[in-house]
Amino acid sequence: MKGGFLLWARLVQPYELIKAKRDGGRLEPADIRAFIEAYTAGTVADYQMAAMCMAIFFRGMDSRELGAWARAMLESGEVLDLSDTPGVKVDKHSTGGVGDKVSLSLAPLAAACGVPVPMISGRGLGHTGGTLDKLESIPGFNVNLPTSEYRRLVREVNCCLIGQTAQVAPADKKLYALRDVTATVDCIPLIASSIMSKKLAEGIDALVLDVKVGSGAFMKRDEDARTLAKTMIGLGAEMGKKVVALLTDMDQPLGRKVGNALEVIEAVDMLRGNAPEDYTEVTYALTAEMLVLGKKAATVEEAREKLRKVVEDGSAVRKLKEIVQVQGGDPRSIDDYSLLPQAKATVDVVAPRDGFVTGIDTEGVGLAAVALGAGRQRTDSKIDPAVGFTLLKKSGESVKQGEPLVRVHYNDAAPLENVKARLLAAYRFGDVAPVARPLIRERVE
Ligand code: URA
Repeated sequence: MKGGFLLWARLVQPYELIKAKRDGGRLEPADIRAFIEAYTAGTVADYQMAAMCMAIFFRGMDSRELGAWARAMLESGEVLDLSDTPGVKVDKHSTGGVGDKVSLSLAPLAAACGVPVPMISGRGLGHTGGTLDKLESIPGFNVNLPTSEYRRLVREVNCCLIGQTAQVAPADKKLYALRDVTATVDCIPLIASSIMSKKLAEGIDALVLDVKVGSGAFMKRDEDARTLAKTMIGLGAEMGKKVVALLTDMDQPLGRKVGNALEVIEAVDMLRGNAPEDYTEVTYALTAEMLVLGKKAATVEEAREKLRKVVEDGSAVRKLKEIVQVQGGDPRSIDDYSLLPQAKATVDVVAPRDGFVTGIDTEGVGLAAVALGAGRQRTDSKIDPAVGFTLLKKSGESVKQGEPLVRVHYNDAAPLENVKARLLAAYRFGDVAPVARPLIRERVE
């Protein structure tokens, strides 16, 4: 947009800007800033922002537009200052998956190794779970702390896990909910700007990104995941932050538990050295990157050694208990799982034939979890923290007809038949075991 028209547009003519983007035009940074400021203030309506997001979905944004969009989102609220905490503050963010409870174990692991971890997380989005929902299944755990308390806990405990406040990237908070219900989540520039705006507002010095790829991720193809990783790294670099990304497998749920309290149990098991290999490996790989960025290890090998040590000597699980305690949760639930929400009943989905599990439609499993009540059908739905699945069989494992595939932990029997049918439809079977794909597909720096 050029000349006099541009000046006029900066007073925010949403119609003109949406139309320009719809028709493949490039928006000026000042127009983008004005549009996002007006959206945050409520003078650009949700339906106008939804139309703009759909236009971006189809037309994309060039790097100048994207930089301006991300910066406007970041500066829509407060950029937290953690300079009173010594050391390199490092966070990790996942683009979202099913059974992805990495943050629950990674944060105490990194903090136990001396890295300050300021972590602002999200709730479930679409078919994917959210760290805040998982944490809230710990009785009393408070994710709604004021930013002053967040600063204090990062300084004194080396970690704080909270939700996005009204002060931190408020444009993203509104936009995230809007995109969730307008089919505009799986769009690289919108994901990249959403993640980077709230992460850069946390007061971090460096960031590790877990870019999920596969049937349970927003990015189904390696090349899209790579583009997303590079886009976020570029935004980080523009804002002076060091960002490393790992592309990790989400072609099947991570670990064996899906559902909020169930995932907390698996995370605590990991800190005790007793969790499924895939989940442990992805957590170690990401946390090791954090230790290197945080200058607590010179190499990822040295970092892994430190991680093994804090698991063996119990300091990782002690750190989690400390975090739970200072955030109002009941630390006894970390030792005694019966204090966590428990489903009233279980039922097994069984294998329809002999053979091997050759694949799992992971988005299908995530949607089955939502249907069971572990996630939200609507933004105002209440989740049931106790319900979810134990995956008794995963890709590559052999099965006999009638053998349990998935244990469903439920409270409400109403959605059960639908959930069981969805789970069965998500599993694929064959006569030969599939070739295993690497868990860590790629490292992008
Ligand atoms: N996670 C985010 O924070 N934002 C998105 O847009 C998608 C995943």
